[in-house]
This record gives sequence, structure tokens and C-alpha cells, in this order.
Amino acid sequence: MNSKKSKIKVLFVASEIAPYAKTGGLADVSSALPIALKDKGIDIISVMPLYSKVDREKYKLEKVMDMACVHMGNCEEWYSVYHTTKPYGNHVYFIEFNKYFDRPGIYHDSGGEYADNPYRYSFFCRAAMQLAKDLKFQPDVIHTNDWQTAFIPYYLKCGEDAFFWGTRSVITIHNIGYQGNFDASVLDYAKIYLNDFNAGAFESFGRLNILKGGLAFADKITTVSPTYANEIMGPIGSSGLHDLLISRSADLCGILNGIDTNVWNPEIDTLIPKQYNIKTYKAGKKANKKALQKMFDLNDAPNIPLFAFIGRFVAQKGLGLLAGAVERAINTMVCQVVILGSGDEDAQWYFGGLPAKYPGRIGAYIGYDEERSHLIEAGSDFFLMPSLYEPCGLNQLYSQIYGTLPVVRATGGLDDTIEQYNEDTGTGTGFKFYDIDPFALYNTMGWAVSTYFDRPKHMESMIKQAMKKDYSWSTSAELYIGIYKEISGK
Ligand code: ADP
Repeated sequence: MNSKKSKIKVLFVASEIAPYAKTGGLADVSSALPIALKDKGIDIISVMPLYSKVDREKYKLEKVMDMACVHMGNCEEWYSVYHTTKPYGNHVYFIEFNKYFDRPGIYHDSGGEYADNPYRYSFFCRAAMQLAKDLKFQPDVIHTNDWQTAFIPYYLKCGEDAFFWGTRSVITIHNIGYQGNFDASVLDYAKIYLNDFNAGAFESFGRLNILKGGLAFADKITTVSPTYANEIMGPIGSSGLHDLLISRSADLCGILNGIDTNVWNPEIDTLIPKQYNIKTYKAGKKANKKALQKMFDLNDAPNIPLFAFIGRFVAQKGLGLLAGAVERAINTMVCQVVILGSGDEDAQWYFGGLPAKYPGRIGAYIGYDEERSHLIEAGSDFFLMPSLYEPCGLNQLYSQIYGTLPVVRATGGLDDTIEQYNEDTGTGTGFKFYDIDPFALYNTMGWAVSTYFDRPKHMESMIKQAMKKDYSWSTSAELYIGIYKEISGK
């Protein structure tokens, strides 16, 4: 008997993958997880749309297919496929279809959300499956992510194509707040049968809910932290999908995201002026704090606690709490604040205006900036994440590795990954609060400031505990492999 097992084959499908195109944590995960899986022996290829913002030259994309075709509704769509293994050595394919992807934004631009998003992503899903066929890459598992790829579990269950009869699906929920809710005009084009436009699958209050369909038909459902897996089975945390998720709870599990330690590691980070590790963190953080204060026009003050916030300006990130606490903190405590983010216009005006009101004490940059985000992680003392909900959250993981203690609302992945400070023992990796209330954030900032000034030994021991955390993908990748094995029988 031949006992040598063949490798598990996985097609990883995502609407954004870093560093090619990124709007949030989904791109980070879609970049790092396939690499970790490949390192553990999974035969994996990734696929994403070729947006116009993808830098073809920098990442050495090469055209590998011309005139590829899928049938959508009553029409044929013809497209090309590009490929690269740069920069990380894993195989990434790109679907080039200018009608849908040659636009300034990924999901939206200054004119708002693209109205044809369900058309764009149903096409992308069929093209991703067709790519596997054209490459003769018969996947054991198609790993899908969020609503943009949630058509695939359904297409597999429809069983139209014998090539995929042995293929199973996993869908990962990165944020259940985004479900892909549209009117039902796309049904024909997307090849969703009217029978499946029902409350148990794609229909929700008379509209199409793409994520719901994916959750109904996927073989396994994962989400990005164990606490979030519980939260999404409740009416508030699920944004309305709790009944379906409860009915599928046997197939649902939470696996904590890891981080890409080649990119987020203060010892080798080339985006910060001074690299450091757990032994050299004092000098390292001091130099980076000085550079950060200079970059944001803050007073050069090495011994004043510096709080930071980085994130999308959306309600989920707790902007209301932040706005209610930051000015109060600046007016009553010795501290500085740095804010990096973009999104909601009102928030941009408000946070963007704070440096003029508090010169030298609050710095803000409105926009998306990788380099600034690395310096902020390295140069700050405390990192603010007052999220209303947080499926996993990456910044609190980066912060800990960079010795920047998170101040978080205890929800989802923030609760799972931050160990509460214990004032008796000096243990912990951050400061947690529970209430959705600006005063709760303000008081916790006060707790952090008093720890900074009054209990420096505790600060030291917490920073060391935080920097020792292992958030590499290794453990989580093993858990995904366990799921692939279970559903593929390999
Ligand atoms: P989400 O996926 O909800 O946006 P995460 O914490 O999981 O939140 O991931 C956000 C990622 O995007 C992090 O890598 C964070 O540093 C990055 N990010 C968000 N906003 C900005 C910004 N304005 N500039 C640079 N990086 C940002």
C-alpha cells in the first residue's frame, strides 16, 4: 500500500491581498496565511482581482492567460490572468477585467460604493474557479473570505461542474458588519437560482445578502477570534445573522489571526529609524519616539506618555469614544496623542483639526500611510483601540510586539489577546475597559498615565511580557490545516 499522502491543494480567494491592494486586515491575513500554509506543506495558490492600483512593475506581474472566459447570466465575460511570486515566493494570480477592476478604488471611490459590486465579485468568483480549472489545479478546498467571495460555496454546492465535485469550501468571516447587501437584480448574472433566494440562504428582508448565502452553503465557517465566534451568534454581534450561525454552530470556529513577522518585527523593521528588541527596547523606543514627535510636530518630550490611534474612520473603531475622551485627556493629563486614519468625512475634519487646537500635544495625519503606521507602533507608549466590536484586530498585536501597551475595549479579539494589567503583581500586557462610554476610555487612559508615572517597574514588566508574545501564524495555520483535513478527508 502506498502510504505517502498527496499534499492538500487549496485555492485561496480574496478581494484584497497585501502588499498588492489593501483596505484593512483582510489584506494582511490574505497575504500572511497562505505563506504560513505553504511553509507547512499545503499546495496553495491565491487569487485576487487585478485592480488598477496594483503595481504590476514593482511586483513583476506576468500575463499567463489571455482570452479566458466565464459565463455569467446570458453573457460571456472574457478576461486575462496575471501571475507573480513576488515579493514573498508564493503563487498569486490576478484576474484582469478592466470593465470591473480598472477603477481608482477597490470597493468605492469618492463617488461612493460601486453600484455594480455584486456583479464585479460574482464575476470574480466564477473567474477564480475557472482559473483553477484552466491551471488543472483541482483544489481539495477553496478558502473564501468575506462577502466578496461568498458566492463560491454556493457554486460548489450547485455541483454544475464535475471538476469540483471533490472540492469543499471554507468561508472566513473577517467582519460580519459587511455582508454584501444589494437589491436582487444580480441574481441572473450571478447564476443564483430563484429557489435559493430564500430566508435560509441568500435573501434577507427582500434583498440579496451575499455573505448569508456563503454561510448557508460553506462546509466550514471560521472567524478570526474565539470570542468573536461567540459574539456573532448573538443578535447584536451578528448584525442579524445569528439564527443562521446558531444553526451552523457545529461548523463554526474562531481562529485567531497571526501577524506577518517579516513585516511587523521591531528588530528588522526598515520603516523605523531605530530597530530594537526586548533587550534594547528602551533605547530603541526612545529614538523612535523622538522621530515620531518630530514627524507629527509634537513637543520633543521623551518622558511624556504618548497615546496613538491608527485605523479606518468608521463607527466600529469607537471614534465616538475617542472623540469624547481625547480632548478631555489632553486637558487634564500630561500626555500627547497621535492619530492616523481616514474614512468618515466628519471624523476627518474633527481629528484633522485637533493639532491646530492643541499644537505640540496632538498630532494627526489624515490618510493611509504604511510608514507612519510603523513609526507610530514603535514610538508610542500606549495604543488606543476603543472599538465597539473587533473581530480580531491587528494593531493591538503589532503594538504588543513593539512594546506599546494597548488600551482596549474588551471585545472580540481585543479581549482574547490582551491580558489585563494587574496592579498588585505588575502582570498583564495592556489596559482593558468594558463600557461603551467615553468616560470608560478616559478613565482607562488615566490608569495608563498613572502607571507610566507612578509604577515604572510595572511598565517595564508589562512591555517585556507584551514583546515576548508569539503572534506568528504558525499555530493558527495548523488549526486551518486541521479544518482542511477534516473536510477533505485527506
Ligand atoms: P480592520 O481590518 O477592521 O481595518 P485591523 O486592525 O484588523 O482592522 O487591521 C487594520 C490594518 O490596516 C492594520 O494593519 C492597520 O495598521 C492598517 N491601517 C488602518 N488604517 C491605516 C492608515 N490610515 N494608515 C496605515 N495603516 C492603516
